[in-house]
Order: sequence, then structure tokens, then C-alpha cells
Amino acid sequence: MNTTTTTTTTGGYQERYAASLMNTFGAPKLLLTRGAGAHVWDADGKEYVDFLGGIAVNALGHAHPALIEAVTTQLQTLGHVSNFFTTAPQVELAEKLLDLLGVGVGGGRVFFTNSGTEANEAAFKLTRRTGRTHVVVAEGAFHGRTMGALALTSKEAYRAPFEPLPGDVIFVPFGDTDALAAAVTDRTAAILLEPIQGEAGVNIAPEGYLAAARRIADDHGALLWLDEVQSGMGRTGAWFAHGGITPDVITLAKGLGGGFPIGACIGIGAAGELLQPGNHGTTFGGNPVACAAALAVIATIEDEDLLEHVTVLGHKLRDGLAADPRVTEVRGAGLFIGLDLAADVSAAVVAAAQEAGFILNNPTPGRIRIVPPLVITADDVNALLTAWPGILDTAFAGEGEQP
Ligand SMILES: *Cc1c(COP(=O)(O)O)cnc(C)c1O
Repeated sequence: MNTTTTTTTTGGYQERYAASLMNTFGAPKLLLTRGAGAHVWDADGKEYVDFLGGIAVNALGHAHPALIEAVTTQLQTLGHVSNFFTTAPQVELAEKLLDLLGVGVGGGRVFFTNSGTEANEAAFKLTRRTGRTHVVVAEGAFHGRTMGALALTSKEAYRAPFEPLPGDVIFVPFGDTDALAAAVTDRTAAILLEPIQGEAGVNIAPEGYLAAARRIADDHGALLWLDEVQSGMGRTGAWFAHGGITPDVITLAKGLGGGFPIGACIGIGAAGELLQPGNHGTTFGGNPVACAAALAVIATIEDEDLLEHVTVLGHKLRDGLAADPRVTEVRGAGLFIGLDLAADVSAAVVAAAQEAGFILNNPTPGRIRIVPPLVITADDVNALLTAWPGILDTAFAGEGEQP
């Protein structure tokens, strides 16, 4: 028996992971054992401030009492019933989401799923019920990994091994209104956009782009479908990132359950009537535990005034990160932040940050993404900003010596 801490915990599990899990994600960086607020600890007892938040998922951070209470109470009461039946949390969550969207009960309908890709699958099927099949999507888009959502995702490396994918999808440059107008025709079922592209490294739609998309969709009788799986539920300091327009379809997941798996496909107005009995289904989607989790997330965001908190800390974080000249651009809204580095050293930045006790993410070789829990504190933000120049020193140290 090996008794050293490292070998019996982190090291041992890395090997066991490699032997027993499919190699879809590469080697895990850490074996994490517990969390509190925006902090997590690894098996060696090292503490990290989590600026990734489970990829924009842990809205309330780790082990938030309101989430624990809601999930525990619901599971002790009624954990799963199938969609032959309903439960109060399911109906209340649907009503609450329609409320937050500003359309209210009667203004739309919700289909619950367990993930973002499933929310997009539901929406993709919904668009087919228009009688049209053509979908216009943006370059750089990420909509998920199941076959339908993958057909709507632009990254060639993700798509190529799985072609043929469900067809009649074309991609246009993100943010280019003229290209969008040229691509949409009277046979287009839907325009699908992320208001802020997450996996591409946080690209923000230029002013007026979504309003133009709304007009173009209306001109051709097409649906406007917004994927707010990453940008929604308070991430940007607002409930949704799409601002002053009303989409026909909106998909949610990531932050919705605060870490408990749940997604939603919401049809607004007539789009909420397109899926009819027999058209779609799910065994787990809309289960009462997931819905109770989401209700707790929403109530906590309201009770703790987190939208304002996200706005304030987002400004502070963006300004602080941008102050270093090795950061060439910072983009974002609220705590949905992407930054460009002066060299393709994002992997080295993530490694140096981890060493220094901060979890960051590198969606592309030159870009860092920062999507922490919405409850992250000013002290946590200050800690990163203090460490930031040193992290960049370490990451850029090898730069001059590269071949
Ligand atoms: C993460 C993400 C998805 C996919 O969600 P999963 O829960 O991983 O299936 C879809 N769309 C966007 C915008 C995302 O960020």
C-alpha cells in the first residue's frame, strides 16, 4: 500500500480515471474534493478560487445553503414522477421563466431538458414544425455535441468526424447584418444566434445586431432562436443577454440549475405551440428536484441582489485584467468575460494560474474565459487581480525563446 498523500489521492485517481473513463476530455487537471462559495479544494488540500464555475454553471458557487435545502427537501418529498404527471416545482419554474422573460404566463411555453444540447435539440425539432428545414447559424457558434446541436455548431474539428449531420444549415459571419440578411430566405425556418458567443472566447454581438436579426426573421416569416445556455440566468448582470428584443425561441441550461442538471427550451407566442403531443419527450426532463434547484437559484439571485453584484464585480474584474499591457482586449458583460493575450500562451496562463491557486479557462490558444460563480466576492476578485501580473510573467517567460 502506498501511503503518500499525492499517490493515494490525486495521482491514483488520475490513473484510475485514465483506465476506466472514455478519453473524451483529456486528462483531468485536478481531483477536486469539496467547495464553498467560489472556492474549491483538491485532494491534496490545496485551495483554488474558481473563476470557471463549472463552465458558467455554478451560479451560486459551491455548496450554497439555499440550493442544498431546495434539492434535499424535494428529494425527501418526491424525487421523480415521469412526464405522465406534473409537480408544483415544474409548473412554478415554467411560470417563473416566462415571467423573467417578460412575456408572462400565456405568452409562451416551456419544455424542460437535462442539458444545453438537449434544449437545443428540442428547439431544432420545434423549428422543423414550421414546415421549413433551413437554419441560419453564426460562425464561431457552439450549440452542443448531440447530432442535431452539432449540426448547428460551426467548429470543423467537432463536426467532421460525425458527418453527415442533420442538414440544411448554413453559417454566416457573427455580427454581420448584411451577411445574415443575404442568407435568410422565405424557406428559412430559423435564425439561431448566441447573443454572446461563449465557447469562441466571448464574442459580443455588435450594437443593433440582434434587433436586425429580429427584423430579418420577421421579413421572411422565420423564427428567431437565441441560445442563452451560457449567457442567460444572470451571467451578464441581467436575466438574459438579448436585451430589448423578443425572440421566438430561447434555450437555457448551464446556470439555470446552479450545478443541478437542467435545461429549458422556451417557445414564445405561437412558437410555443409548434411541438404537439407525440412530437418530443424526455424521461428526466422537468423532474421536480431539478426544477426545485432552478427555483432556488432564481430566488437567491433575487434575494441576494446578485444581478447588481455581477454588474459591479464584472466592471472591476474587466478593468483590472485589462490594466496589464500583455492583455490586448477584454470583452464581456457582467461576469461573462473573455480576454485576448499578446501571444498564444493561454494554456500557460491557465497552468500558471492553477499553480497560483486560481482556476481559469482557455477556449482558444490566445484567449482566456472567465465565468465565475455569480456569488464570487470582491476579495476573490482582488486576489486574482493581485496575482495577475505574476501569472502573466510566468506564462510569457518562455515566449522569447520559442522557435
Ligand atoms: C455549453 C453550451 C451548450 C451545450 O450545453 P451542454 O449542457 O453542454 O449540452 C449549448 N449552447 C451554448 C451557448 C453553450 O455554451
